[in-house]
Amino acid sequence: MIQSVIASKEVTRHILKAFGLHASKRLGQNFLIDADIVHGIVDAADICPGDRVLEIGPGIGTLTQGLAEAGAEVTAVELDKKLPAVLAKTLEGYDKVRVVQGDILKIDIQTVMGPGSFKVVANLPYYITTPILMSLLEQRLPITRLVTMVQKEVAERMTAVPGTKAYGALSVAVQYYAAPRIVLDVPPQSFIPAPEVDSVVIVCDVREKPAVEVKDGQLFFRIVRAAFGQRRKTFNNALKTMGLEKETIGHILLKAGIDGQRRGETLSLAEFAAVADAVGQ
Ligand code: SAM
Repeated sequence: MIQSVIASKEVTRHILKAFGLHASKRLGQNFLIDADIVHGIVDAADICPGDRVLEIGPGIGTLTQGLAEAGAEVTAVELDKKLPAVLAKTLEGYDKVRVVQGDILKIDIQTVMGPGSFKVVANLPYYITTPILMSLLEQRLPITRLVTMVQKEVAERMTAVPGTKAYGALSVAVQYYAAPRIVLDVPPQSFIPAPEVDSVVIVCDVREKPAVEVKDGQLFFRIVRAAFGQRRKTFNNALKTMGLEKETIGHILLKAGIDGQRRGETLSLAEFAAVADAVGQ
């Protein structure tokens, strides 16, 4: 059984008080206080001794401790300038943990992580969940698995299937690069302070190759954005917003085998790919 001493209400309160810290709303700070959830995340990440892990936003080291106890070599990137000194104390003795102060959206992750594949594990700050996830996936970093705590509603969008209300550009983008699944429900009481939303842990197994083959990835995403830009429009009309002529659209749809009267939000990744390749020709 791994030790996760920091993951309790008492210890977290004690650490915050001892260092004169106040959870910053601006930085999305909600500290985990539930050891079962820490164990659930470590299990979902399938950590084996020696696994290299990038942790985003270690806070006071709650999840970091769980990862280090399981034998991971953790590089933890934290934006809050006050926290590295705190982490040096709370994680004293864990010599496989390295804390890097910086903004995950600005640092060069490849340089920080060095050569070789790694996993990403994080209790993400909710104010920038989507930009962080998209940036990690779009950079095509050698990430094998991404395990993150996210707002339930965001996870539902990430895993949504065509034709549902939650299906959108985020679903297509995440599923293009990875296979996402929700593994754990996490109530607000598992954090200090308790967030106003429900949370879940999501596992994304990153694909070696995108889910669908397309000749031009940028064009694929332009079409996806056009399709979801005005959800109530038919796909026919959505393509018009890309500046395509009626006749050209007719040819494209015929070639891709798509009925232009359908709404864009009903198209699968494979169908978007067929359209992108037809537009590109
Ligand atoms: N991992 C800790 C836990 O589970 O208790 C803290 C999680 S808290 C939800 C999010 C953490 O991300 C905070 O420590 C916050 O300071 C940090 N953070 C916010 N924005 C960041 C950014 N752009 N880059 C790196 N860390 C960030």
